[in-house]
Amino acid sequence: MIRLFDSHAHVDGPEFDADRGEVLARARAAGVSRMIVIGAVGDTGSAERSVALAEQDPDIWATVATHPHDVDKMTDAWWAVHERLAPHPRVVAIGETGLDYYYDHSPRQVQQVAFARFLELAHRVGKPVVCHIRDAHDDARAILKEGRAGELGCVIHCFTGTPEDAKAYAELGYYVSFSGIVTYKTAQPLRDAVPFVPRDRLLIETDCPYLAPIPKRGKRNEPGFIVHTAEVVASCAGMSFEELAAQTVENTCRVFHLDPPTGLP
Ligand SMILES: [Zn+2]
Ligand SMILES: [Zn+2]
Repeated sequence: MIRLFDSHAHVDGPEFDADRGEVLARARAAGVSRMIVIGAVGDTGSAERSVALAEQDPDIWATVATHPHDVDKMTDAWWAVHERLAPHPRVVAIGETGLDYYYDHSPRQVQQVAFARFLELAHRVGKPVVCHIRDAHDDARAILKEGRAGELGCVIHCFTGTPEDAKAYAELGYYVSFSGIVTYKTAQPLRDAVPFVPRDRLLIETDCPYLAPIPKRGKRNEPGFIVHTAEVVASCAGMSFEELAAQTVENTCRVFHLDPPTGLP
């Protein structure tokens, strides 16, 4: 059995309420022995649910933050929930935070201020950051450098930038994570970016329930589907599936300060 680590899954969401146990069992059957649940969608309920899931399952860890889409709704009480949860021992990172200039659901200036504030929170608790950056790579790099993200450990999740962006993040020592988008026919520029990420900085993720990889595209995504993304990333990186699986498990454990898995899955 090849072991895989889904570095970014939203299995706390209502999309999985009806069959979460079966989804997690299917993931394990597919070799996905570990996952990071991202508590950042919508309101603070996502962070609370993700921490609860991580408390119940030794192979699940959580992150807490608020997605850039939703930061204009944040109140003092909302921030206080994140400050309370951030030091929790099952919380391994602050995220996803960042900038999304594609949708602009929150004003850009509000996104920038919240992003910097989440970086400060990450420094206070000594944990890495998981970043959502879309059509905003130059501004994001400026905020990340200013916020000394390299000292924290930094993941650029669901990477959709150019090969030059991948190179620029890699030069800063950040990790770059590829989602199911890398399997899509139109995503050749993204496949071209994979070799620009050093092997020890490569991560893979589902970002489920969104972005199911081919051949599952259009369905609800789930952690077990990461196998298809891993196959494509491996071939772009010039690695065997087994090498890519082992390398990305090792990288995910390193950035989130987890002990590598031991023994059989
Ligand atoms: Zn995201
Ligand atoms: Zn996400």
